[in-house]
Amino acid sequence: MPESGERRKRARPVATALRAVQLSNTDTAMHMTAHSAMATVWLVFVAYRPPLQHSMIVRARTVVTMDGPPIENGAVAISENRIVEVGKFDEIKTRHAGEIFDLGEQTLLPGLINAHCHLDYTCLRGKIPLQKTFTDWIRAINAEKTKLSPKDYLASINEGFAEVRRFGTTAIANLTAFPELVPQITSPIHTWWFGELIDVRAPERASEIVDLAIESLKSAQNWGLAPHALFTASKDLYRRCEEIAKRDNVLLTTHLAESLEEMEMFHTASGPLYEFLKGIGRPMDDCGNQTPLERFVGAHGVRALPRWIVAHLNELAESDFMLLERSKRRFHVVHSPRSHDYFTHSQFPFERLRSLGFNICLGTDSLASNESLSLFAEMRAFQRSEPGISPDEILKMVTVNPAIALRQENIIGRIRSGFCADLIAVQCSDRGNPFEQIVAFDGLIDWIMVNGNL
Ligand SMILES: [Zn+2]
Repeated sequence: MPESGERRKRARPVATALRAVQLSNTDTAMHMTAHSAMATVWLVFVAYRPPLQHSMIVRARTVVTMDGPPIENGAVAISENRIVEVGKFDEIKTRHAGEIFDLGEQTLLPGLINAHCHLDYTCLRGKIPLQKTFTDWIRAINAEKTKLSPKDYLASINEGFAEVRRFGTTAIANLTAFPELVPQITSPIHTWWFGELIDVRAPERASEIVDLAIESLKSAQNWGLAPHALFTASKDLYRRCEEIAKRDNVLLTTHLAESLEEMEMFHTASGPLYEFLKGIGRPMDDCGNQTPLERFVGAHGVRALPRWIVAHLNELAESDFMLLERSKRRFHVVHSPRSHDYFTHSQFPFERLRSLGFNICLGTDSLASNESLSLFAEMRAFQRSEPGISPDEILKMVTVNPAIALRQENIIGRIRSGFCADLIAVQCSDRGNPFEQIVAFDGLIDWIMVNGNL
């Protein structure tokens, strides 16, 4: 009967742990002195090495690094907020000092990365009954939003952060329609704040809207811009965002080809979304002859760089795939499986996009079209629709792939020396495939480290 992680956790005082490690290093060094004079120098260095500050070793039955095969009886040495080394526990403990956290039978893995979320709407969970159309859903969320004050949104965002953390998320691409609130929020995880921008009612103010958002977003460590969608953001707004992205080297994201109604609007100038937007005064002269993707790639003059993070791509025509093949343009794509199911969109063309070389990530989208902010639940929903995809491939979609989309592939998303110490532990029931068990995990995370902090 394996001991529980809690009982095996050895929170030894740092001094005791250091003494143990120094002794073991000295033993090794003494052995080496018999072999070379150089080793004597090394012994002196080791014996007088000052104690490391804020160092620790985290041991687990299995360490899933996303950087090679899982390591049985593995450990990660951490100093300050960085991973120093990962390997077998027996080896790590002889080479590194620090308090040892033994997670027992649990599996240690990189913290998860949510590639598309709107924490603004955490408070709308369960508030929007299922609607007949996507356009009705837009009407319903707009009606709910009129009831909310800035204070409500602040509470909603903070509540959302607490929830994503409970589900093991250590980094997030979060779109906010209220960039002015960003300076008031202390995010408990790595956050890329994207100002979600809409100028459908005032396209003449496109540049002003972008510039105003940037004033607030600049207070965040990581920020980017998110023209909402082709149907709510003007060509000028997209263009201005691209200018800023090139000037300030920031990230861009947008919603594209999400619903059939969006396809209808741009392709045939008809349908509920077309009528709704026409009704609120949107100029509709860009509708009737192109698919949303054709407009995005063509009319907006979107260049290969900067490389956009595109949410959805649910509704693509055959001509769109031909266009993608021809253009060689590659975005990062975010799929939100449960929000996709909520709206009953067409099957997400995972295989076709993947075979074209797109980097595909998962996101939760908002709780206005989802029931929780769990990326584990997203992985399972994706697995149900794509049973042929291996669980390790699925886990990449919430670790390695979103790290690439956020241009952080050398910092987060794997357990590797030099990377941020963003780690989570998952209770695994038996000695089966660790990736399968991780995807199947449906509890809350009770051991999480973000940037070296527990
Ligand atoms: Zn979204």
